Amino acid sequence: MATVKTKSKKFHFKAEVKQLLDILVHSLYTSRDIFLRELISNSSDALDKLRFESNKGTKIIDNKLPLEIKITFDEKKKILIIEDSGIGMTKDEIISDIGTIAKSGSAEFLKQLTETKQDASNIIGKFGVGFYSIFMVAKEVIIKTKSYKKDEPAIMWKSDGLGDYEISELDEKIKRGTTIEIHLKDDAEEFAEKYRLESVIKKYSNFIQFPILLEKEKVNTVSAIWREPKSSVTKEQYAEFYKYLSLDSEEPFETIHTSVDAPIQFSALLFIPKKSNEWFKYNREDYGLDLYVKRVLIQHKNKDLLPEYLSFIVGVVDSEDLPLNISRETLQEDIIFNKISSSVTSQVLSYLQKIAKDDKGQYVKFWKEHGQIFKLGYMDFTNAEKYTGLLRFNSSSSKDADELVSLDEYVERMKKDQKEIYYALGPSRDALAFDPHLEIFKSKGIEVLYLYDPIDEFVISALGKYKDFDLKSVENADPNKLEQMESVEEKKEETKKLNSDDQLHFDSLLAKMKEILGDRVEDVKESNRLTGSPSCLVAKEEGMSASMLKMMKMVNQQVSEQKKIFEVNKDHKLLRNLLTVFKKSSADDYIKNVTEQLYESALLLEGSLDDPHKLVNRLNKMLEESSGWYVEVKKY
Ligand code: ADP
Repeated sequence: MATVKTKSKKFHFKAEVKQLLDILVHSLYTSRDIFLRELISNSSDALDKLRFESNKGTKIIDNKLPLEIKITFDEKKKILIIEDSGIGMTKDEIISDIGTIAKSGSAEFLKQLTETKQDASNIIGKFGVGFYSIFMVAKEVIIKTKSYKKDEPAIMWKSDGLGDYEISELDEKIKRGTTIEIHLKDDAEEFAEKYRLESVIKKYSNFIQFPILLEKEKVNTVSAIWREPKSSVTKEQYAEFYKYLSLDSEEPFETIHTSVDAPIQFSALLFIPKKSNEWFKYNREDYGLDLYVKRVLIQHKNKDLLPEYLSFIVGVVDSEDLPLNISRETLQEDIIFNKISSSVTSQVLSYLQKIAKDDKGQYVKFWKEHGQIFKLGYMDFTNAEKYTGLLRFNSSSSKDADELVSLDEYVERMKKDQKEIYYALGPSRDALAFDPHLEIFKSKGIEVLYLYDPIDEFVISALGKYKDFDLKSVENADPNKLEQMESVEEKKEETKKLNSDDQLHFDSLLAKMKEILGDRVEDVKESNRLTGSPSCLVAKEEGMSASMLKMMKMVNQQVSEQKKIFEVNKDHKLLRNLLTVFKKSSADDYIKNVTEQLYESALLLEGSLDDPHKLVNRLNKMLEESSGWYVEVKKY
């Protein structure tokens, strides 16, 4: 029995810990067996840290102790003991690490638990609060721990998880590491049975890289399956390893297992999950690959092996060519590490290229799940070619909103004299169907990429070009270039051309409209891009698109207002009628009202009408008037 050297001192759990414990102690959980996974994983981390210090040459007490995790139990007394020879904890460490929740994810965790009524056992491991899951099964916990640092006393920590914990220094000589003694609740006695324990360890902790001894018998595999030849690993083993790494209950979507020997040796076992990581929104740190050097874990969730846009990938990378004592802080500057990371990135991209080529359906599934993150790669100039080849969009040639096209497919279908790739931004496919800017593209049968996601525009602007073709927004397209291309639509019944006299009047009408709109527009011009709509606003060729402008304003960027050109469709019936009015009475208010209405409608369509009140008011008046005429004409 431990003899206590100092008087024990009582501490209170921090408020958020108490709140968490309250939930864990008083609720019933379907999979509370995960508490064992969390404790074994903590032990494994403690052993990894010890090995890391030892490789660095740090002085360590009990240097000869084997690195392992021992699990013992007493079925009669309902006690379970988990012991490791890891790094241990000093008194200060145990107070700061167990008793407070340091990680930023904890508040989110509590929110998730209470708001979404999640089962805590499903999500606890993801928020760095795993230790507390012990109180799903324990009525009392006693931790004895001794730090690897010389001259640190052994510490005992004791708690029933209800609000307080006690800490005292121990007199007895205990060895380096941590022992956790769990007094099981009555309804959790199954965790003092060999068969149950063995199955839980195999289920969650089979790939822990240190031996787990259950009553002296080793129960886990302890093999680095990423180091084994592909041919000797089964699909089931891959799936099991993936589940262990990701805490996902589903099989992986794709498995990428590679080994490179020259110029630098490394093995990588990577997985694409079926579903994108929804926790990522709550815990932005929750991604990265595990980095091993010569089978020794150097860093869990390293964020530099893959660029952020591939952060949906889960897996491990192991190299023979990095030194074991490499410091995590200097990894980023290490030449070999950087070579490994660029090779891993390029392999992932090649793999995606292969899926895109061999199995389109599979690639579409990938895109729907992970495309959103993938698009962030527009800053990766080194891999620009592969990246752009992997982008997908919906387009005017797609059957429906689900069908996707690549830039290569677009280029293949381009018209003979087409020199630009066109795209349009809009909230949905249905909305784009009514976009006046697209009318000329429809009549010429020119494909237009549909961009629904705000980030798409950043992607497109960053690319600027694909192969030899400029990427151009339909808003900025030069209609003269388009006009020269052959039409596919039968020309609608040709509207009678204006005689030269009327043309002069029409020019004056345009001048009148410009006078009405004043400084709000750059100019008012006759359009040759419209077939069905009366008018639209267009940017000057190099101008910023409406949605980009809006986005810049949203992020408080100083942007100078860019005046647009108001284009009107001379052949549209409304304009022809307006011309008739104008010829009779150029100062008629009707001209002003229609001009204002058309202009504000165009603003409304591109999403930049700030206040709709005037528009609605004017519209209602016009409707009222026209209803009178309607009744008259119909003789109702
Ligand atoms: P996490 O493991 O995600 O950090 P936990 O709540 O599980 O969160 O553990 C909190 C901290 O307590 C750990 O980060 C570690 O510093 C310390 N700890 C827990 N178990 C052990 C152990 N067996 N040996 C050494 N330190 C431990």
